[in-house]
Amino acid sequence: MLISDLDLTMVDHQCDEDNISQLSFNALWESHYHHDSLLVFSTGRTLAVYKRLKKDKPMLTPDITIIHTKTYDPNANLLFLNENWDKGIIMEETDKFPELSCQSEADQRQYKVSFFVDNDKADGVIKALSERLQKHWVTATYKIVFSGGKALDVLPKRGGKGEAITKLGPISEGFSLGKFGHGKQPCNTLVCGDSGNDAELFGVPDVFGVMVGNAMEELLQWREENAKNNPNIIHTTERCAAGIIQAIGHFKLGPNLSPRDVLDFSKTGLEVVKFYIFYEQWRRAEIADPERHIENLKEIFYPSGVFVSLSSQEHPLHDCLGQLTKFYGNRQGKQFRVWVDHVTSTQIGSETWSMKFDKWEFSDDGPKGRTSTVSTSDGFVWMHMHQTLLTGFGATDQTYLLF
Ligand SMILES: [Mg+2]
Repeated sequence: MLISDLDLTMVDHQCDEDNISQLSFNALWESHYHHDSLLVFSTGRTLAVYKRLKKDKPMLTPDITIIHTKTYDPNANLLFLNENWDKGIIMEETDKFPELSCQSEADQRQYKVSFFVDNDKADGVIKALSERLQKHWVTATYKIVFSGGKALDVLPKRGGKGEAITKLGPISEGFSLGKFGHGKQPCNTLVCGDSGNDAELFGVPDVFGVMVGNAMEELLQWREENAKNNPNIIHTTERCAAGIIQAIGHFKLGPNLSPRDVLDFSKTGLEVVKFYIFYEQWRRAEIADPERHIENLKEIFYPSGVFVSLSSQEHPLHDCLGQLTKFYGNRQGKQFRVWVDHVTSTQIGSETWSMKFDKWEFSDDGPKGRTSTVSTSDGFVWMHMHQTLLTGFGATDQTYLLF
C-alpha cells in the first residue's frame, strides 16, 4: 500500500512543468503495482479542489482518497474525517493572538481554521494557544498543526492524516482490499509527504516513509526529533514523485525502474503502458527510425485484428497502424503527454488476456480520456481493441482511428 500526500509530494507545482516525474510514477505504478497494491491519496484539499487538480495534472485514480473534513462515503472510495467541535471557541481564543493573521476565506473549512504566523513566533503561540484551548474541554478535541514555515491550522484532534490511516483497515476490507483477498493486509506500507501536516503519516507504526527531496524544514525537524534513528524513514535527494520512486528502490519494495525510463521499443510485444509511452513519443517525433518501428508494430498487431472505434464501427487494426504513421510528429514541440490509468487484466484463455484501461491525453485543450479494452494473445499480440468515451472527458473528434 502506498499512501501519499498530493501537493508537492505526488504533484510538483514548482519545478516540473511537464509533470515528467509524476508521469514516470504513473507508468511504474500501472505496470508493476496496480494489479495487487493499493494507492491511497491523502490530501488537505476539499473534494471540489481535488477534482480541479485532476483537470490540470496527470492524476491516477487511487483506490482510496482521504479527504479531510466531512463524513465517510463508502460508495465513492472517499474517506472524510470529522468530529464535533466548536469553531466559535477556536475563533474567540485565536482572536487574542495578534501574531495570528487569518488566511483567506477560501482556505478556511468547516473543520479547519487556518492562520499565518511568523516562523519564530510559532512555538510560543502554539504553546499559549494550546493552554487556552485546553480550558474549554475536559479532554482536548482539537490540535494545532504548523506547516510550511508559516501556516498554522487548528483542526479536530481526530482529523489528521495518521488518524485516517488507522481507519483505512476496516474501510478497505469493505471494498478495495478485495485486491489482496478478503481479510488480507498489505505486506508493506510506504507513506509519502512533504510538510508538517504529513508528520502523522510518519508516526504510524511499522511503515516505510519518504520525505521527498523538497520536504519542508518543519517535517525534517519532526524527523530529527521523532525518527532520527529510524532507518525506515528517509529524506530523498529527488523531489516529489521522483523521490517516491527513489524510496521504492531504497527500501527494495519492488521494481523501481519506470517504463518511461526504458526507451527500448524494439522488442516484440508492447504491453499497454509501454505502448502508450511509445505512442506519445511517436506523436512528439521523439522516436528515431520510425519506419523500422512500423514494421515492428505490424508484428504486434494481428493481421486480421479488429479495432472498434468510438462510433462503434469496426476497422482492421492494421488500418489504425496506417493512421498512426500519418500522425508521426503532429504534436512535435507542443504540449502533449499520454498516460494510462486503471489498468486491469483478466486471463480469458491459456494464452489470451483481456486488458481494460483508461487512456488519457493531455494537451493545450486539457485532458481527454477514453476507456479501452484490448485482447491480446501469444505474448502481447493485439487481437481486438474497443474504445469508448470516458464520461466528462470525451474527445470531441471521433473520426480518428487512433489508439
Ligand atoms: Mg503537501
